[in-house]
Amino acid sequence: MVEEVLDAEERASLKTRIKTLMKEQDAVLVAHYYTSADLQDLAEETGGCVSDSLEMARFGHAHPARTLTVAGVKFMGETAKILNPEKRVLMPDLGAECSLDLACPADEFTAFCDAHPDRLSVVYANTSAEVKARADWVVTSGIAVKIVKYLHQQGHKLLWAPDRHLGEYVRRVSGADMILWQGSCVVHEAFKAEALKSLHAAHPAAAVLVHPESPESVIALADIVGSTTQLIEAVRTLPNPEFIVATDNGIFHKMHAAAPGKTLIEAPTAGEGATCVSCAHCPWMAMNGLRKLAAVLESAAVGKRSANEIHVEESVGQRARRSIQKMLDFAAAEKAGRIQLGD
Ligand code: SF4
Repeated sequence: MVEEVLDAEERASLKTRIKTLMKEQDAVLVAHYYTSADLQDLAEETGGCVSDSLEMARFGHAHPARTLTVAGVKFMGETAKILNPEKRVLMPDLGAECSLDLACPADEFTAFCDAHPDRLSVVYANTSAEVKARADWVVTSGIAVKIVKYLHQQGHKLLWAPDRHLGEYVRRVSGADMILWQGSCVVHEAFKAEALKSLHAAHPAAAVLVHPESPESVIALADIVGSTTQLIEAVRTLPNPEFIVATDNGIFHKMHAAAPGKTLIEAPTAGEGATCVSCAHCPWMAMNGLRKLAAVLESAAVGKRSANEIHVEESVGQRARRSIQKMLDFAAAEKAGRIQLGD
């Protein structure tokens, strides 16, 4: 998938058109950190937000707009709809999927759960509405360790899906008894430990920042392991002049804005086992762009049904919301000091 390329004139004209359409349709734009700089800028210029999947859904919930336009991948649009069933949720391209979501079909996940009735199931946010509906808990990468530690301390044995690298990392840090689904992210799986060691040797002052969807051998080389939001915060707060970053390079736009004087270097993806998608950029995130966003808003003009609207069946949405709500309640309780986690 080739990312949209625009000259300055077309970019300006599309942005003007989209801003008018968004006003007419009472819409707000929420964009993921991995989408294009154009979409991220437009989201901020129009009072929307650029964030991780959970914050995108939370922001959409708190915002008064009746239409949420979600620039990201399908499970993010579904999560926005699950938390905001009364709102219309539109996406630039419903074909923007995620290798983790695709690797965990609901019927196979149900069979996995049924085969282990003595275990609670914890799923990553990168899953379909149906999988979230079947799960006991939904977690994001930013809170996965805390929730799994908590469940482990309560004496629960767990099932984890779908990302095996994140699951392995969480299992290592929490000490929990977990059976892991074997999915992976095509972007993070491509990072290479040996090449990263060489790159770090050439940039000894750099801090290595790694998203936990990366392989264990890459995580082992990290100074900081964290979610997208946590990695941006690390660039802002750590004193290092340089950072080697092992996550989708769409995040560089926000990192540059958070720490303008610092140098950002992509962690290496080339080498043994590299494929055509080994480029540190998600092919599905790249399906989002200003042209498609304008077309979707035009097709969805008031009173018309849009082919790009997200629908989640009501009973599925209710059950999925319950699993997501547990995470939100846990986050609030932990922040308020009502949950204490041991080492
Ligand atoms: S970067 Fe990986 S986890 Fe994120 S949407 Fe793309 S395939 Fe899924």
